[in-house]
Amino acid sequence: MTGRALLMIPGPIEFEPEVLQALGAPTTSHVAPKFIEAFGVVLEQMRQIWLCPSGQPFVVAGSGTLAMDVAGANLIEPGDRALVISTGVFGDRYGDLLLRYGARVDMLQAPLGAAVSTVEIERKLAEGGYKVLTCTHVDTSTGVRMDAKAIGTLGRQYGVLTVLDGVCSVAGEEVRQEEWGIDVVLTASQKAIGVPPGLALLVASPQAIAAWRSRKQPVSNYYADWCNWLPIMEAYEARRPSYFGTPAVNLVCALRVSLGQILDEGLQTRFQRHRLLGSACREAIRALGMSQVPEEAVASSTLSAPRYPDGVSGSDLLPQVRAAGAILAGGLHPEIKDTYFRIGHMGANTPGDLLATIGALEAGLAATGHGFELGAGVAAAQRVLHA
Ligand code: PMP
Repeated sequence: MTGRALLMIPGPIEFEPEVLQALGAPTTSHVAPKFIEAFGVVLEQMRQIWLCPSGQPFVVAGSGTLAMDVAGANLIEPGDRALVISTGVFGDRYGDLLLRYGARVDMLQAPLGAAVSTVEIERKLAEGGYKVLTCTHVDTSTGVRMDAKAIGTLGRQYGVLTVLDGVCSVAGEEVRQEEWGIDVVLTASQKAIGVPPGLALLVASPQAIAAWRSRKQPVSNYYADWCNWLPIMEAYEARRPSYFGTPAVNLVCALRVSLGQILDEGLQTRFQRHRLLGSACREAIRALGMSQVPEEAVASSTLSAPRYPDGVSGSDLLPQVRAAGAILAGGLHPEIKDTYFRIGHMGANTPGDLLATIGALEAGLAATGHGFELGAGVAAAQRVLHA
């Protein structure tokens, strides 16, 4: 096939053929028995993948930002205090979003490439008065991963509802929602979940649902309101027809296939595969003489964020890498946008995909005149993958 290239950006990603096949099947009614069954199965699969047996899953048509909005709209009432942990663009976005719902927001922002320390978060929580704590598990603008287990534990310790933006982590990075005590874990279909863009997904703990039920004021966002969606989720899971807003029928059918594949692989195996891909990619980047945005100790498994070598720009490099067979993403964080690029490695990606991508990166670097030993990146990745 001419012009074929691997889509190695941090979402959307390469999807499995079976998932795409399900997406392309004839659309059924949203109350057809087969679709009701598919939706019901999806909700059951989500509890298993989120590792949250007593959680309430929600599947709503929209992107990851809608999932953030659903959690914010339902948990925040005007005047509530929220602590927002930010390690990049998406943490900052959560702060802006909660302000729209009248929250009084305190931000804890990490220096670029670093995580916010647990000690600092605990110091803030100890001041008291917070209702909600939000944290981006992996911020896709920096590749920094926060300690999600510590977030959940601190939330329970201080009686604060925790929301984990897992858009760039769920089904790639390890998340144990119930064991770690996280109240909402949200994501979107197009990343490690492995389904084309269009679904906002979240699981809410019984504590989050109770907090929503005890609101004094109605949810100010009509579409996001759990009053509208909870009866729908309950109906589909009980295999009863119901309707509030037309579900994204084909995407939900594709989701069933992808979640089935995730469960077949096994969560431990999947987390370990992502860890291996992440560390192989970072070793390759180092071997090619490039530095990276996240500090190694907090670097995510789902994407890497290399800095361009001196004298090389994105417009020099990325089209060359594309021509050699891999599509990579430019920088996103406004302060350093033009100095780095991003490689996604999650979901269906195999070691072979990663090696092909590093090979394409080497071809691109060679075309820009950057000095390095051809093959050094691939060899470094191989040493990790086959250790
Ligand atoms: N949070 C994180 C961590 C993300 O990476 C993204 C998307 N890149 C979002 C939220 C927003 O998701 P969407 O673009 O699907 O609205």
